[in-house]
Amino acid sequence: MNEKVRCLIIGSGPAGYTAAIYASRANLSPVLYEGMEPGGQLTTTTEVENFPGYPTGITGPDLMVDLKNQAERFGTDVRFGAATATDLSSSPYKVTIDGEKIIEADTIIISTGASAKYLGIPDEQKYAGSGVSACATCDGFFYRKKTVAVVGGGDTACEEGLYLSGLAAKVYVIVRKNALRASKIMQDRVINNPKIEVLFEHETLGLTGEGVVQGANLVKRRGQADEEQVHIDIDGFFLAIGHRPNSGIFKPWIETDEVGYIKTIPGTPRTNVQGVFASGDVADPHYRQAITAAGTGCQAAIEAERYLSEQGL
Ligand code: NDP
Repeated sequence: MNEKVRCLIIGSGPAGYTAAIYASRANLSPVLYEGMEPGGQLTTTTEVENFPGYPTGITGPDLMVDLKNQAERFGTDVRFGAATATDLSSSPYKVTIDGEKIIEADTIIISTGASAKYLGIPDEQKYAGSGVSACATCDGFFYRKKTVAVVGGGDTACEEGLYLSGLAAKVYVIVRKNALRASKIMQDRVINNPKIEVLFEHETLGLTGEGVVQGANLVKRRGQADEEQVHIDIDGFFLAIGHRPNSGIFKPWIETDEVGYIKTIPGTPRTNVQGVFASGDVADPHYRQAITAAGTGCQAAIEAERYLSEQGL
């Protein structure tokens, strides 16, 4: 039998838990499904030093436990399970959990986040948390005066490379084509930065190092007559080849941009479906920070409360 709830929150990163804290304190009796990766992207980072309120830092997993405890303290029903399908054609909206159970919800807060893309080489797993990162703002600080590499040629790679150049002694940007895809202004900044060396037409074959990343094996101009094996000594390897917003199951109903980020009415978490709100990285191609995700989670819960009261639900 279907279960009916007033407020369903999908996702358990900073956006989802902040929405849950606000929604439960507003007596919306929220039910939160944690999703495939309980705690979200922060559980894959080590130390978080830029979340306000933790002057000596906190680990990503500990921060998420704190947020979860805070949400549960006010009565959020946190459940293990992932949304696998949706029917948002009419209210109450229907969300299938784990392909079986159907939840009917008066209002939904989508906080399913985004997943960084990886190259798919086994060494990314081997050195996860030991020199491989997909977030320069999160982990760059640990590479002060060291040598790092950023993979990618888009705006994110340029932005991460420039950010890292403010900390590291040297930054390689590894680009598979012979040109950057980033906006012209970002390209100029990268090319003219004395700390950054762009390695055009290079692909990463693997990483080396005893327990932690100490180098990368690259191939230059793969498949060409002048193909060349290249080794660089590095301490950190940053992926910046794009993110994939986890919006697939909402796409039949919810408008997204061409990449898949949920479109919200600017300055609000409102989607094109009334009563359905989006917060955090699933709707944010620009900032992608824990604190901005938490901020939009708060906005989504306030909007959900207003919507329910306006509709008399
Ligand atoms: P993009 O899709 O723009 O760029 C991805 C980059 O990664 C490309 O250079 C691509 O190479 C490379 N890449 C992809 N897969 C691989 C692979 N398997 N191996 C090696 N390289 C790979 O993603 P971004 O995250 O950079 O940007 C996403 C969007 O967000 C863009 O629209 C961007 O403009 C925007 N953005 C804007 C910012 C700003 O305005 N300040 C900051 C950050 C992002 P190739 O070119 O060969 O395909």
